[in-house]
Amino acid sequence: MRFPFFSYYCYYYSVVGLIYVLLFFQIPAFPARKISAPVRVLTADAYNATWGNFEKFIDVGKGSRVSGMSELKQYFHRFGYLSPMKAASFDDVFDDSFQSAVMKYQENLGLPVTGKLDSVTIKQIVTPRCGVSDSIASGAGRWFHITKHFAYFYGHPRWVKSKPITLTYAFAEDHLIDYLSLDEIKAVFRRAFSRWEAVIPMNFTEVEHRVADVRIGFFRGDHGDGEPFDGVLGALAHAFSPENGRLHLDAAETWAVDFKSQKSSVAVDLESVATHEIGHVLGLAHSSVKEAIMYPSLSPRTKKVDLRIDDVVGVQALYGSNPNFKLSSLLESDSTSNQPVDSRTGSCRWAVLTATIFLILWS
Ligand SMILES: [Zn+2]
Ligand SMILES: [Zn+2]
Repeated sequence: MRFPFFSYYCYYYSVVGLIYVLLFFQIPAFPARKISAPVRVLTADAYNATWGNFEKFIDVGKGSRVSGMSELKQYFHRFGYLSPMKAASFDDVFDDSFQSAVMKYQENLGLPVTGKLDSVTIKQIVTPRCGVSDSIASGAGRWFHITKHFAYFYGHPRWVKSKPITLTYAFAEDHLIDYLSLDEIKAVFRRAFSRWEAVIPMNFTEVEHRVADVRIGFFRGDHGDGEPFDGVLGALAHAFSPENGRLHLDAAETWAVDFKSQKSSVAVDLESVATHEIGHVLGLAHSSVKEAIMYPSLSPRTKKVDLRIDDVVGVQALYGSNPNFKLSSLLESDSTSNQPVDSRTGSCRWAVLTATIFLILWS
C-alpha cells in the first residue's frame, strides 16, 4: 500500500505550496523576490511630465544638496513618507529623515531597501501610479508578519450590508471623456467589477447616478475633493475607502481600451486602473507585491487586470469567499505547470493550500 503523502503528485504540490509560502514571506533564499522586475524604459515623449525631472537625482547621496530636491520631498510627502508638519519647509538637502523616507518607500514598493536614490528606486518613483497615498494603509494587526503585502485602510472599513452584498454603481455623465463611448467605458468597468465579484460574495449593479453606492467619473485638476489631478501621467486615478464610493480617473490621461487602436506612448489601460481602484472602493489599500492588482504603480501601455493571490486573500478577509471561487484554480493558473489533477492529488493539494493560507494569515 502506498502512503499518499509520499506520492509524486503530493511531492509536486508540496513544492508548489512551499514556493508560494516563501514568496509571501520574502525569505532571503529567494532574493529575486525582493528585486523589482526591470522597469519599463520610457521613450522621450512618454516621460512622465509630472515626475520625469526626478531622474536627475539618480545616485545623489546622503548629505548632498541638489537644487529641486525639495520637489522630490514633496512627492514623498504626498504619498505619505515625510511628515506633513514639514511640508512647507522642505529644503534641497538629502538628510536623515529623507533617507528614512526613502527606505520606507523602498520597503512598501517591494524594492531593495538601500536608503539610496539608486536607479531602481528613481525609475519606480517616476512611474505613473495611483494617487491614493501609501500612508493610509495599515497592516491587519497580528495577521501580518513583518513582511507587508496586502493592506487595508485605517480601521479596516468595509461595506456593511446584508449578504449577499449588492453594491450599485453609476457613471457621472457630465464627467466622461469624448474619445471613448459610454458603452466602451461601461464594458471595461463591467469586466473589472466581475473580477472582484468572482472571489467575494458581492454583486455590482448599475443604477442611475443619484442613488449609486459607487460613483465613477473622469475629472481634471482640482475637482473639489482635496486630491487634485496633475495632468498627463503622474497620478492616474484615485478612489476612496468604504463606504464613500467615489472613484475618479484623471481626465488628462490618454485612456485606452485597446492598445491596437490607441497608439499613444502615454496611453494608460483603463481596465487595469479600474480594477485597481475598485479594490480601494472595497477597502484594500496598496500592496507591496509587484504582481498584485493593488500594487500602486502602472507603466503606460501596460495591461494588468488579473487578481493575484495577494489581492484575493486580502479582499476575502474583509468579505469572505464567493462560494463558487476556488483558490486552487488561481494557484494553478499562477503555476507554470500543466500537471494534470486527479483524485489522488486532491486531499494533498488542499492540505498544502490550507497550510499556505494558514501561514499567511497567522504568522
Ligand atoms: Zn491605489
Ligand atoms: Zn477625486
